Amino acid sequence: MPDTASVPAPAATTAKPIPFIDLQAQRKRIEAGVNAAIQKVLAHGGFVMGPEVAELERRLTDHCGAKYALSCSSGTDALLIPLMAKGVGPGDAVFVPSFTFTATAEVAVLTGATPVFVDVEPDTYNMDVKSLARAISTARKLGLHPRVVIPVDLFGQPVDMDDINTLCAKEGVWVLADTAQSYGARYKNKRVGNLAEVSATSFYPSKPLGCYGDGGAVFTDDAELHQRMMQIRVHGQGKDRNENVCIGLTGRLDTIQAAVLLEKLSIFDSECDAREKIAARYSMLLKDVVETPAVRPDRSSVWAQYTIKSKKRDKIVATLSAEKIPTAMFYPKPIHVQPAYRAFPVVEGGLPVTEELSRLVVSLPMHAYLTPEDQDRIVAAVAKAVA
Ligand SMILES: *Cc1c(COP(=O)(O)O)cnc(C)c1O
Repeated sequence: MPDTASVPAPAATTAKPIPFIDLQAQRKRIEAGVNAAIQKVLAHGGFVMGPEVAELERRLTDHCGAKYALSCSSGTDALLIPLMAKGVGPGDAVFVPSFTFTATAEVAVLTGATPVFVDVEPDTYNMDVKSLARAISTARKLGLHPRVVIPVDLFGQPVDMDDINTLCAKEGVWVLADTAQSYGARYKNKRVGNLAEVSATSFYPSKPLGCYGDGGAVFTDDAELHQRMMQIRVHGQGKDRNENVCIGLTGRLDTIQAAVLLEKLSIFDSECDAREKIAARYSMLLKDVVETPAVRPDRSSVWAQYTIKSKKRDKIVATLSAEKIPTAMFYPKPIHVQPAYRAFPVVEGGLPVTEELSRLVVSLPMHAYLTPEDQDRIVAAVAKAVA
């Protein structure tokens, strides 16, 4: 594989560095509200499960349309809690893409189940339903019990949830949507969080809706499941505080983070609109330069990343870096080739699309406050690199 070191570095620039995600620009917009909200928590002192937590959960259900929202300590715990609540464990197969953040597969291993890696589509980078069907039969041949699929809305675009839900209903497998990157997006006029039996999202600072630390949420319409997940969030605590009815976690969202999220949620829809406009402008300017991302007509993306594909990726990274423009690679090394995951099964026929994407993709600076001037500089640098 070529590496950036073999590409001669262009002359250094005196231009201002462009941030990959500009959280400071957002902070300026909401600074007064956030400071007041944090002060309020400091004053009332309910740092754990304070009133802002319940208020956030109510606002999230209003926002996405799910009946229940359970805030929690991270996106990873938002995936783990429903798996624990459903009793997923040894002998169960959990179907996950390999072209995703590690947490998607990690939670399967933490329960003692076996992750089975599924390939993705070459243009949306999301789980390929045909590959999922094949993986379910692969798992059965291996003597595993197909139990749950965790499709990932990669880079902010929802997966083809109708196709996945139909296949899973037929196979008796339940769906846990990993919406860590897509909260705020729509699919067939429904919001993410309300598309699968259970959905998990992350409020990690760099996600489209992020707090100022770690946080996450689980969404479902199932009252009984919600009840069990509430118990797991607090060490398996039952109705009586002194009774432990199951094994749980320290899985709560901090009150201060809930307070921050309430402020951010109030500007979130307008930020999603801005992200869509910026992504559309990138695609217009780059469509003849590199392969730009595809969004299906029946859905929208919140553009957690704006990811292009190019055989000249290394040259793009080096050229942009010399012009003080950061880039990021999601994901140069898919999970199934990582040392910690190599022993787990992959779908029969392997993951050719995942492996190709891992060699071609690179993500450009993307956030709601990216100016046309900075975007023009980024586009010009990409064009220069591939010329
Ligand atoms: C960020 C992310 C997670 C994990 O979220 P944390 O809040 O960092 O634990 C899980 N899945 C995907 C696809 C992610 O991007």
